[in-house]
Amino acid sequence: MKTGYAFKNCNVIYGEAGRGVDTHMTILIQDGLIQEIGKASDVAVPGHYQAIDVEGKYVMPGLINAHVHLFADGKPFTLSASEGLLDFAFHHLLDTRLGRSVLKKRMKRNALTALHSGVTTMRSVGEFLYTDVQLRDEIKANQFVGPNLLVSGYFLSVTGGHGAPYLALVGDSPWEARRNVRINVKNGVDLIKICVTGGVTDARTVGEAGRLQMTEEEVAAICEEAHKIGIRVAAHVESTEGVRIALKGGVDTIEHGAEMDEEIINLYQNNPRALKGYTALIPTLQAAYPSAKLDLSLTKVSETVKENSRRVYDSMLKGVRQAVEHGIQIGVGTDAAMPYVTHYDLWRELDHFMRQTKLNPRRIIEQVTKSNAEILGIDHLTGSIDIGKQADLIVLEQNPLDNIQALADTAMVMVRGNLIQTPSVTRIQAVDELLDLVWTIQE
Ligand SMILES: [Zn+2]
Repeated sequence: MKTGYAFKNCNVIYGEAGRGVDTHMTILIQDGLIQEIGKASDVAVPGHYQAIDVEGKYVMPGLINAHVHLFADGKPFTLSASEGLLDFAFHHLLDTRLGRSVLKKRMKRNALTALHSGVTTMRSVGEFLYTDVQLRDEIKANQFVGPNLLVSGYFLSVTGGHGAPYLALVGDSPWEARRNVRINVKNGVDLIKICVTGGVTDARTVGEAGRLQMTEEEVAAICEEAHKIGIRVAAHVESTEGVRIALKGGVDTIEHGAEMDEEIINLYQNNPRALKGYTALIPTLQAAYPSAKLDLSLTKVSETVKENSRRVYDSMLKGVRQAVEHGIQIGVGTDAAMPYVTHYDLWRELDHFMRQTKLNPRRIIEQVTKSNAEILGIDHLTGSIDIGKQADLIVLEQNPLDNIQALADTAMVMVRGNLIQTPSVTRIQAVDELLDLVWTIQE
């Protein structure tokens, strides 16, 4: 049996925009779950519980990052090596016993970095060699205390498509696409990630990032195959036409996204082929912004990457504003692992989102907790401070509703009732410096 805990003198933020902050609260935790929440005078603390006085601090649900990759940490990288070199590196370095073990250690380190920064749930959307499935299973088996992980295994892509061939299972027809869903499912994934258009990281020409790669028939076959066993489909999409095809095919989330028209707005809100009858948008603003807006001398990216990033960012931002305006369900993801996106500063994405949409802090906190849990289909387990939910919570020194940057200073983290009393994160100084610069110039 796990230790029982009593958090005393809490200022509680519940993860719901409609609920205010409750002060002088006691929260009891038992067997990894939230057992009781109430005014100090109404809650009796069992003598054998470990009491933690958090006077003056704020307790809120652990953060959920709905779009990450664990294989990298946010230091800049390029994929400009020749095909022969990449092929050699994959088969002779990565896909070996040693290679897989090194990769898994690095993924574990990134997952722990996220956890210590307050991210108690991560949805990983594209990894190599099913190392993500193994890591999730190690955490589930309590081999170490890690975040809740939802994993997708390989991307599903087309010949020559985004992530292919090393990060993706390739299929060129609805039936091949169905087979690839079945392969990922057999290997234990929680969701399916597909690439409907090209992407910035491996585009060789300007315009390739948003270029349509999958057909509606392929997307529909994938969604039908996944939905019949109740798992969701997340679609990487970086153009308006790509979003249309993905929505018509019935995906559950659009990752990144693009400018919408009326047909697209309606499909987000009411999508008969999606598992829950609607599709959510998970933008990743911070992932595109530095490469799109900063000088090449700072980011060291190629002219092609910069121009593709600029197009993707501008269109994604329009899509985000339209989603807010039309009440489309919006989640939060960062694309951590991509250049200049670390695993430890999710607050930057929230800050960016707020600046660009004028959404209030209560709404943004709800988005990164309760709404994300709903979108991922785990709201019965986590995403809010409620009796019976997993004890996935963070303790903050300052009130994030006053200043979202308060999320950068996590005093304690608890995941499934496991307490991390003094979280510590190893930061990447060069990346931080660039992101701080972005923060000062952003309008
Ligand atoms: Zn991604």
